[in-house]
Amino acid sequence: MKNEALDSYHAFFLDVDGVLVRGGEVIPGAIEGVARLQRMGRVLLLSNNSTRSRKQVASSLKKAGFPIEEQDIVNSAFIASEYLRDHYGLLRVWVLGEEGLGLEIAAAGHRLVAPQEAEWIVAGMDRSLDYSKLTEALVALSTCGGRFLATNTDRTFPTTDGPRPGAGATIGALTGMGYPPTVIVGKPAKIAFDVALEMAGCTPSQVLMIGDRMETDILGAREAGIDSAIVLTGVTQREMIQTHAYAPRFVADSLHALANGNLCG
Ligand SMILES: [Mg+2]
Repeated sequence: MKNEALDSYHAFFLDVDGVLVRGGEVIPGAIEGVARLQRMGRVLLLSNNSTRSRKQVASSLKKAGFPIEEQDIVNSAFIASEYLRDHYGLLRVWVLGEEGLGLEIAAAGHRLVAPQEAEWIVAGMDRSLDYSKLTEALVALSTCGGRFLATNTDRTFPTTDGPRPGAGATIGALTGMGYPPTVIVGKPAKIAFDVALEMAGCTPSQVLMIGDRMETDILGAREAGIDSAIVLTGVTQREMIQTHAYAPRFVADSLHALANGNLCG
């Protein structure tokens, strides 16, 4: 069966949480959905999650059954590394975040250093954030003149026990000390989409962004000139869509439904 709605796209950018998985569980039909999209074009996973490296993300998705490799992952840790290297070369970076963020920064060739040697700070979600880390952050920020990259500013992070503090909590703590981020690279920032477009070798009109969150996936795609589809397996319910001043091109119950051409409305 042909899927005419999606026929004109050469690549699909997929959000992860709320599209492929939810609270660590595979969303029903998502594996088949990814496989089907891969037969129509290049599939990249464009995620704001900075807590794991691309290798770690690929390995856990593969274990869950997804046909996904490391080079298919564009997470905010990777986007941060690429952005800094492209704009400033290889840097001495102090990281406030979880293990995967540091791994990805180092994998790009940047050097992870102590707070008092930092040229740039990179900060993201950190589930062990405490007063002593904030003290180190303050040292690093004053050392580097406040050059501070935020992976994203998502307020919350979905878990099976309900929402938990997202990267926005980390970024807010640094901002509260007088240091707002110099740059934010995750969705809805155009930087995120630019890195993914370059990896896919596509122009915006050749791509469909598929996500579950209006404020990041759908708004960001729109601002990057990319068509979007929202799936209702994550944080957005159907009646929430029209409360926004912008709309996705497609609405589907799930990735599986979208990939099979079963669209809502
Ligand atoms: Mg999501």
